[in-house]
Amino acid sequence: MGKKNKQFVEKITAMEDDFAQWYTDVVKQADLVDYGPVRGTMIIKPDGFAIWENIRDELDRQIKETGHSNVSFPLFIPEGLLQKEKDHVEGFAPEVAWVTHGGEEELSERLVVRPTSEALFCEYYSKNIHSYRDLPMLYNQWSNVVRWEKTTRPFLRSLEFLWQEGHTAHATYEDAEQEANRMLEVYADVVENYLAIPVLKGKKTEKEKFAGAKYTLTIESLMHDGKALQSGTSHHFGSGFAEAFDISYLDENGEQQHVHQTSWGITTRLIGALIMVHGDNRGLVIPPRIAPTQAMIVPIAQHKEGVLDKAYDLRDRLKHLARVDIDGSDKMPGWKFNEYEMKGIPVRIEMGPKDIEKGQVVLVRRDTGEKEFVPLENLETRLPALLDEIQENLFEKALAHRDQKTSVAKDMKEFAQKLEENPGFLKAMWCGDTACEEKIKEETTATSRCIPFEQEKVSDTCVCCGKEAKELVYWAKAY
Ligand SMILES: [Zn+2]
Repeated sequence: MGKKNKQFVEKITAMEDDFAQWYTDVVKQADLVDYGPVRGTMIIKPDGFAIWENIRDELDRQIKETGHSNVSFPLFIPEGLLQKEKDHVEGFAPEVAWVTHGGEEELSERLVVRPTSEALFCEYYSKNIHSYRDLPMLYNQWSNVVRWEKTTRPFLRSLEFLWQEGHTAHATYEDAEQEANRMLEVYADVVENYLAIPVLKGKKTEKEKFAGAKYTLTIESLMHDGKALQSGTSHHFGSGFAEAFDISYLDENGEQQHVHQTSWGITTRLIGALIMVHGDNRGLVIPPRIAPTQAMIVPIAQHKEGVLDKAYDLRDRLKHLARVDIDGSDKMPGWKFNEYEMKGIPVRIEMGPKDIEKGQVVLVRRDTGEKEFVPLENLETRLPALLDEIQENLFEKALAHRDQKTSVAKDMKEFAQKLEENPGFLKAMWCGDTACEEKIKEETTATSRCIPFEQEKVSDTCVCCGKEAKELVYWAKAY
């Protein structure tokens, strides 16, 4: 490694030495965010925001394809409105930000800066749903929300973050059930097929479900350090919110019925997942389908006559095939190599005088570092195929990592030992008692991640109390 390259890489702490510091270094060096003036807030910079836009665009496409409309609701919620659903307000009270003054004047009723918008949507639905003909009402909004978190980290936990929140109202419990499932599948599709992150699909326990929900569905993924990250949730509210907010409709028989509701969301946390699943000691690794730039052309010996012109011609030629960019600045090629590896661009295209002579370019993969020489005339087929190969490889690698970091435990001794030896997901049977769940958390700091849809029986008894087991649960330490 040349001296210049070495210096550059040294800016990132090795993930084996200190994973948390590695994460912070990558976020900073890859130029994704800056800190805002208020503790725990973040400025998402162009390179970070472009990743979010690509996630957002694909998800938005699928949200609309499944029949939903985008809307925009207010930032403020009157205190009285938030308090209508008891569990909901209790769940969010510790982390809400209050507005007490408008200008110099004290407000007669305090306002909450939305931590989530159930109260607002419910209030709206109570006024706008009258008949079965109004149902289903399928709304989504892309917005920012505020949760006054004590400890914060860019993307993973911040005072303010971006997300989408879907809020739907249906005539029956079953309709809402189908909706909650449908949106979980949409999330799983985007996270697996675009972000190349394998997910576990399942249900949250009563203890871990959303405040006010009948039940919560979740997709859970595993980070490189063996910690889990909740990557998207879809909640079935039953008619609980409808009763609290008086949302009812006249059914086909002229009878008054409460609606059944769902809500579902994913956030900018997904960028944190992307970094921690695919990143390495050279920086970010972005899956091609999400990468703002999929291939970067780096001209070699660009001062030689014709090289830059040919490189720009190549960019124009490939523009319609992939998101291709070029760095024609006078920085050294070695600097550019490191820079774009750091930023996780999936493919580097090198082109110098010798390549031009031979009618070829050099393609270098970010995920494996492999180089290949490709004749110019084959590039139109080879580049898209290579991007697909990288996408698939990243998913397969993440899946193999997850499998390798998934263990089975039959009692608490084994649970603690496996968690220590091979941090990751632990599959263990559970009796269904919250007391056992709490005891496991207290003793090991691992939490229940989900009750997977795909159940299996790894033993007959609860890993904690030894009584008869009800179901298999995935456990892990989590972000
Ligand atoms: Zn138990």
